[in-house]
Amino acid sequence: MNRDAMLREMGITPLWKARGAAAAAEAEPPTEAPAAVVPAMRSRPVAAAMPLAEDEPPPYDDDFPGAQERQMPPPRESHVAPPQPGAPRARAAAPAVPVAATVDAERIEQIARMEWPALKAAVAACTACALAQGRKNTVFGVGDEAADWMIIGEAPGAEEDARGEPFVGQAGRLLDSMLAALDMKRELNVYIANVLKCRPPGNRNPEPLEVAQCSAHLLRQVALIKPKLIILMGRFAAQTLLGTDASIASMRGRLHQYQGTPAIVTYHPAYLLRNLPDKAKAWQDLLFARKTYQGLLGEAAAQ
Ligand code: URA
Repeated sequence: MNRDAMLREMGITPLWKARGAAAAAEAEPPTEAPAAVVPAMRSRPVAAAMPLAEDEPPPYDDDFPGAQERQMPPPRESHVAPPQPGAPRARAAAPAVPVAATVDAERIEQIARMEWPALKAAVAACTACALAQGRKNTVFGVGDEAADWMIIGEAPGAEEDARGEPFVGQAGRLLDSMLAALDMKRELNVYIANVLKCRPPGNRNPEPLEVAQCSAHLLRQVALIKPKLIILMGRFAAQTLLGTDASIASMRGRLHQYQGTPAIVTYHPAYLLRNLPDKAKAWQDLLFARKTYQGLLGEAAAQ
């Protein structure tokens, strides 16, 4: 299959544009057709096994229209400290509605018992931190609520805030093309959510109190979805679920566990947009994720 046909098949032609003279030579894409679909564990569509070798370059790219023009915020990779009751909230304007300065343990416990409708309503109405003041929309999550794969990012940006859906901006387009390279789609057997459900102003890093107030929603989403595999994109997602402040680089390439669920750490797509060479490493992480998932399917089938 030639390059264009392959791209069309993967549905990512508009996202993938030849780069300069080297690309003009039309570097050969993977030549084999997509392999058979991995059997679903829950009778739902799942990732197809793509015949890409470990040493192939990542087949996704951010060279889509507009990628170069838009100024990306710096990657949000700093440490989330444990909740600090009463910690000042930098840059937060004086709230128009009362904002809790400490984490209410009873509220967190209530969230941990919620079913989907109550959880969605709680996020939509949440005023537990100052981010509620500036949001256009809360960004709950998107995808299959019984997905085998769960992808966790950091916080909504401007486009996500405007549309109420995670990863619909530039980083999201890269995420979509990463998923497409695995023959996956955000609607099918994948659920995507963030640590924070409201946009931090100016796309700044989440603050510890915001994470402490909001992460209960994410943890309840994980508990309800019961994914087979969790992909943690960026340090805030990794820190929130794994409770570590280790660097992404040190956490990559190993299988972690969140309450018994395998979890894989990789770079955040927004970071990859600014650090193009690391896309090859992120591709290795996705291959590792797919291999891990296929192993889980195999184990389940053998039981
Ligand atoms: N970055 C994230 O972590 N999440 C989004 O939804 C968008 C950008």
